[in-house]
Order: sequence, then C-alpha cells, then structure tokens
Amino acid sequence: MKLNDKGLLIVLSGPSGVGKSTVRKALFNKKGHDLVYSISMTTRTPRAGEVDGVDYYFVDKPTFEKRIKEGKFLEWAEFVGNYYGTPKDKVEEQLSKGHEVVLEIEVAGALQVRNQMPDAVFIFIVPPGKQALYARLKIRDTEPDSIIQERIEKANREFLLAHKYDYIVVNDDVNNAADRIMNIIRAEHAKTERTIHQYMKMLGE
Ligand code: 5GP
Repeated sequence: MKLNDKGLLIVLSGPSGVGKSTVRKALFNKKGHDLVYSISMTTRTPRAGEVDGVDYYFVDKPTFEKRIKEGKFLEWAEFVGNYYGTPKDKVEEQLSKGHEVVLEIEVAGALQVRNQMPDAVFIFIVPPGKQALYARLKIRDTEPDSIIQERIEKANREFLLAHKYDYIVVNDDVNNAADRIMNIIRAEHAKTERTIHQYMKMLGE
C-alpha cells in the first residue's frame, strides 16, 4: 500500500561529462517504474543519432528567447553558447497526473528549480574521479577543443556545488548508479513528511 500517490519531481544534475544521460537512460530501462522524462528544449545542433522530440526539442535562438519572455520554462540556462530549458507546462501536467517526472539538467538550472520547487528531489551525479570526467569529455569527438576546454572548466566550478543537493550518486558503473537512484526515489516516497497526511487519514478510518 502506497501512502503517497503524488508524483515526485526528480532532478538529476551534475557536471557535463559525468554520464548523466547514460544513467538516466539506464534508469528508464529498469522495469516497474512510473517515470516520465521531461524532454528539454535546446538551441544546440543535434548530434548524430539525436532525434527531435525524443532527445531534445531542437529550436532556433529567436524561438527559445520568445518562450523565455512568455515564461514557458520551469528553468533555463545558457550552457557553452547554447540555451537549454525545461518546458513548464509538460512537467506540471505529468505531476498533476501523479507521474514521477525526471529532469536531467545542468547545475545552474537545477538551482533555479530548487528555489521554485523545494519539494523536488535533487540528485548530484559525479564521476568516480576528475580524470574520468576529463577522459569522457575528450572522447566526444563531436566538439572542438575550445568547447571541450570550456566544459572542463565549467565542470571544475560545478563540482563545488554538491552541498546544494539532497543526494550524491557516484557514476562508477551506469547500472549501479541507476539502481541507487531508484532506491532514492523509493525511499523519498516513504518519507514521513510525504506520507503522514495519508497515514493519519488511514488511522482515522
Ligand atoms: P548536451 O549538450 O551535452 O546535451 O547538454 C549540455 C548540458 O545541458 C548537460 O549538462 C545537460 O544535462 C544540460 N541540459 C539538458 N537539458 C537541460 C535543460 O532543460 N535545462 C538545463 N538547465 N540544462 C539542461
């Protein structure tokens, strides 16, 4: 019996190159969950194999800027020369239906969500060491060295923001990291502050 039927907002974040999207995909491949991924909007050019409406909604800068002005993002950030943002309406719609909504976003955006939705669960994904992260970023041959260098410098600043999160998950192994996140989600559902209302109602019956 579940004492908390409300959907949780789960924010997966961490420096670029820690393997956030691989961990998120492994999480979604697990059986028996009710997770919905919030597809972000970006002005970045699609990488080979990326599909519009699946990996991201790819739009141009004027379209993105218009949506910022209209207040259509739960959060947005500029990241290494491109905009990235979470469409607000979709997140609200899924949460109201009781689904768990997962955001996979960079650090500045996660901190904006923290201010707006303190009830959300904030998970910081980190590599098993800094060298592992540098190696991952360098393997991506889709980007010029200057961009990779910028991502590394940004990651070094972001490492220091772990204390702003509820949980830290080390991505030493993708499957283990996804398991740890699933366990966190389950434990969050059982938290007294999320269950006490329903529990008291049950006692009164
Ligand atoms: P990439 O270009 O590698 O796909 O993404 C760059 C960074 O932007 C990653 O850290 C990714 O998690 C983050 N990101 C993706 N979508 C969003 C979003 O909607 N908002 C924010 N703030 N960051 C995002």
